[in-house]
Amino acid sequence: MARYVFITGGVVSSLGKGLASAALGALLQARGFSVRLRKLDPYLNVDPGTMSPFEHGEVFVTDDGAETDLDLGHYERFTGVAARNTDSVSSGRIYSTVLEKERRGDYLGKTIQVIPHVTNEIKDFINTGDDEVDFMLCEIGGTVGDIEGLPFFEAIRQFAHDKPNGQCIFMHLTLLPYLAASGELKTKPTQHSVKELRSIGIQPDVLVCRSEHPIPDKERAKIGLFCNVRQENVIAAYDLDSIYEAPLAYHQQGLDQAVLDAFQISPAPKPDLSVWQDVADRIHHTDGEVNVAIVGKYTQLEDAYKSIKEALTHGGMANRVKVNVSWVDAEVFDAEDGAPHLEGFHAILVPGGFGERGTEGKIKAAEFARTRNVPYLGICLGMQMAVVEAARNVAGMADAGSEEFDHESGKKRFTPVVYHLKEWVQGNHTIERKIGGNKGGTMRLGAYSATLSQGSRVAGIYGTTSIEERHRHRYEVDTKYREKLEEHGLIFSGMSPDDRLPEIVEWKDHPWFVGVQFHPELKSKPFDPHPLFRDFIRAAKDISRLV
Ligand code: GLN
Repeated sequence: MARYVFITGGVVSSLGKGLASAALGALLQARGFSVRLRKLDPYLNVDPGTMSPFEHGEVFVTDDGAETDLDLGHYERFTGVAARNTDSVSSGRIYSTVLEKERRGDYLGKTIQVIPHVTNEIKDFINTGDDEVDFMLCEIGGTVGDIEGLPFFEAIRQFAHDKPNGQCIFMHLTLLPYLAASGELKTKPTQHSVKELRSIGIQPDVLVCRSEHPIPDKERAKIGLFCNVRQENVIAAYDLDSIYEAPLAYHQQGLDQAVLDAFQISPAPKPDLSVWQDVADRIHHTDGEVNVAIVGKYTQLEDAYKSIKEALTHGGMANRVKVNVSWVDAEVFDAEDGAPHLEGFHAILVPGGFGERGTEGKIKAAEFARTRNVPYLGICLGMQMAVVEAARNVAGMADAGSEEFDHESGKKRFTPVVYHLKEWVQGNHTIERKIGGNKGGTMRLGAYSATLSQGSRVAGIYGTTSIEERHRHRYEVDTKYREKLEEHGLIFSGMSPDDRLPEIVEWKDHPWFVGVQFHPELKSKPFDPHPLFRDFIRAAKDISRLV
């Protein structure tokens, strides 16, 4: 039976609950325990798949094809445990399951209520895979007191009540604001937040307090006393230069010890933190910098490209260089010369995206990188636009484009070198999809394998010809144009095992130009940088040494 840590937040949002959960997961692993992390989101969307990246940041895709919250990315990056469909749930999904059951008559005519029907559904979700790991870490999205969150809080209270004594603990994250005028850290918001939590029957065992200033022992004692938490379980969380310092910092503050004490695990196994010491060393001891442009559409909200930003950082760690990311809005040069916006970077990355807006700018970025020998990594839409660029400017197909944009505008304007995929193979099944209709889950989602050509750049980078990467897209590059494009030097170096779907393209005579239909960033970790990002940054570093 797993032990459960429920992680909640109070006072304000964006305190880094996801990061604290992920770091705790890493610390428990360092002490030899197995962990799994879960996110319970109170919003009513069935999943984040249909939410705008401007609002909710990136959608993190799991191997088994779930579109989940970006916190699952943190969990994977810190623990290396691949997230699953069963690690993320929202009120929307819970309610839709309950309503489906009601329609099917599963409740035998009973009146359906939040307690017990909704709360039971949540408890069943939490309990999935109970026998698989030592610790299950469940983070509740939002802050205590949010209306949507109430059924989740009630469910975790009941869950802990149902389990044997000592099987579940509660960890609560709060903020200690600093009043410059009086030079004081204020504990009142934390007291109120814990009061709110206790009013719904949850007594936190561990308090994690975000603070910009050191927390004096006197304040720690006060928080402990007023919140009914042992003083040594009041853990300070200070701002860090890099999120990857969090496991070491939390360890230093005693978080893992406090959690193990709360479970009365004694003596606690000694931690082996060498992985995180090496990560910290790579952050602090760098030799040089590289400047990378991310040419995208959702550049106002960095969280929209969270995993890409992190994967670039990992690539920097592998090469011991600092990676400076500049966000370049592709739309700005949709209708003008892109060069002034792209000069001076050591590498260009065009990320995934949906819709036509900004795509002419992305095509120009691909052209700029190709003709100026700048390392280029195109991800999903970034690969598709590199193919459109090649078709237009090298293979003489002036009207090449993606069917996605014709579908959007309702006009037939392009020769579709990128077309809508209606049918594909996953394992032994053929999956069919129509355009339009239900927006959720209509994409090729999750892990698919690809075969790389012997001797290609990517086969060298991966060190193998058989790979598996995560996908999230509706459109595909059409193999109809493969021969023509290859004659001009754009090699289709990665294909689906049945040879029908292009997975990777690369320019033959270029220092480093790779487009991938999948999302390699989702699998990169600080202690195991993704090979494509490692080599992309290596190429950028080589260029930076030349200029
Ligand atoms: N819009 C493109 C498609 O659906 C690319 C998607 C993406 O970049 N993730 O195929």
